[in-house]
Amino acid sequence: MVLVGLGSNLDSPTRQIDTAFEMLESIPGSELLSRSSLYRSAPLGGIEQPDFFNAAASMTTTLGARDFLEQLQGIERARGREPGGPRWGPRVLDLDLLAYGDRTIDETGLTVPHPGIALRNFVLLPLREIAPDFDIPGLGRVQDIAVNESEPRISRIA
Ligand code: ATP
Ligand code: CA
Ligand code: CA
Repeated sequence: MVLVGLGSNLDSPTRQIDTAFEMLESIPGSELLSRSSLYRSAPLGGIEQPDFFNAAASMTTTLGARDFLEQLQGIERARGREPGGPRWGPRVLDLDLLAYGDRTIDETGLTVPHPGIALRNFVLLPLREIAPDFDIPGLGRVQDIAVNESEPRISRIA
């Protein structure tokens, strides 16, 4: 199973997330297993920008991790994401590969599990809904990873 984190804070974010789920379904050799509810959170990193909308998906795929990430990046581009924006800056769509089965990968351009998982409630809360028993390499079961009490507001909206 692979886990994907979705985020958007530009150009009708809730519609962007809906469209992204549809596009995830069309990745070759892959199937969407489940999708979380939608969450809304204050942006990270001190850049003045709109709130983010976030969700997560669980999928299966026959693609390798790098090919799967390339598919995610292809969807980001297809939705009009501008290349080269700042990290944690505003974007129409952000698709992060959160976990790829039980694999640990640390290569240029591909780190799995995604290093932000345990720090981000906007990742943890949707993951708890769709994959509570999933064992994230190095972190343990999703449902056992503590939420980060110091992170600002997040709310489930749909
Ligand atoms: P963060 O990764 O902290 O959530 P971000 O999503 O804003 O920040 P991006 O600008 O979208 O970061 O991506 C920066 C780079 O991260 C990409 O070029 C991509 O190659 C790399 N990357 C490494 N590991 C992953 C992963 N597991 N999922 C998505 N991108 C990854
Ligand atoms: Ca991200
Ligand atoms: Ca990203």
